Amino acid sequence: MVDLKSQYEKIKPEIDAAVIEVMDSTAFINGPAVNRFQKNLETYLGVKHVIPCANGTDALQVSMMALGLQPGDEVITTSFTFIATAEVIALLGLTPVLVDVDPDTFNIDPKAIERAVTPKTKAIVPVHLFGQASDMEAIMDIAEKYHLHIIEDNCQAIGADYFFKDGTKKKAGTISIVGCTSFFPSKNLGCYGDGGAVFTNDDDLALKLRQIVNHGMTVRYYHDMIGVNSRLDSIQAAILDIKLKHLDEYIAQRQKAADFYDKAFANHPKLKTPARFKNSNHVFHQYTLVTTDVDRFKLVEFLATKEVPAMIYYPVPLHLQKAYLDPRYKEGDFPVTEMLCKTVFSLPMHTELDEEQLQHITSSVLEFINQ
Ligand SMILES: *Cc1c(COP(=O)(O)O)cnc(C)c1O
Repeated sequence: MVDLKSQYEKIKPEIDAAVIEVMDSTAFINGPAVNRFQKNLETYLGVKHVIPCANGTDALQVSMMALGLQPGDEVITTSFTFIATAEVIALLGLTPVLVDVDPDTFNIDPKAIERAVTPKTKAIVPVHLFGQASDMEAIMDIAEKYHLHIIEDNCQAIGADYFFKDGTKKKAGTISIVGCTSFFPSKNLGCYGDGGAVFTNDDDLALKLRQIVNHGMTVRYYHDMIGVNSRLDSIQAAILDIKLKHLDEYIAQRQKAADFYDKAFANHPKLKTPARFKNSNHVFHQYTLVTTDVDRFKLVEFLATKEVPAMIYYPVPLHLQKAYLDPRYKEGDFPVTEMLCKTVFSLPMHTELDEEQLQHITSSVLEFINQ
């Protein structure tokens, strides 16, 4: 699904030098590389504060802690996402309230959010799924009306632009009070291990976040709140700092591959190519098609025989995951999510896809679908 090896080979001299620099300095934790990357990411995103942490899941968790969410508070999120989003809500003793998604963008449906608000609701977690921002202006209107926090799960959409109705734009993940990202190797900005970060323009929240990721420490060995240990290590930061310089070019390569797929599958009666939402560009963490009358598992098997990897993100909606079964929810509650879980599949999407590979992938898909 991703070709990290070819990507690494192209930037190997830069990466190797950066890693060796950290090794020589032995500043493995909170070394200068971490600060440098943090500053460069702040500039790239146009956000006041980037707080690096250990992974995207932690980024979500510390955001919820810093906002002061308390056990019993309800947090509204999408039923069609990676499990981490709901996992941290549950782990903190908060109550996940799931809502359905838009069938075209796969992102949380703002109308469904408003219907799910109760007096206990404290926050909304929109996930910018597959590389495209959610309908943030509509979500912000609801948040304002009911005094709710918004935590953007931007693990899949780093670098995406959100275009406001008034013509201004912001980077996805920096639109609301707090945004979270993951630097997992296969993410659009990925390191060579685990990593994550939180973004905010709020000075007080930034301070709190920095304390929480560092054991709730204000002055060394003085702990004013309960925190966690969640750090981005210096080697990963040094690698990310190099890859950040290439991020826009990486995004362009993903978009080019997506355009190729779009053309190959345009107007096919059994395949629906990903819709582009007018308020966001698409940075294509995944290229996900909706099928009609296609046995996806057979398709994936067939593609494997042609050495084409394909994946189903996500086969099971959150409310039907064993660990999250809840008497509040049953099959049929989120018809769009359930339909997507039964019909979507994703094709290889990365920075190293050339025309020949794309041609082979698309003709293999069409060979199966048209037989
Ligand atoms: C990857 C991902 C996460 C978690 O990130 P990790 O770094 O793997 O912890 C959370 N939410 C979404 C939507 C993701 O894609």
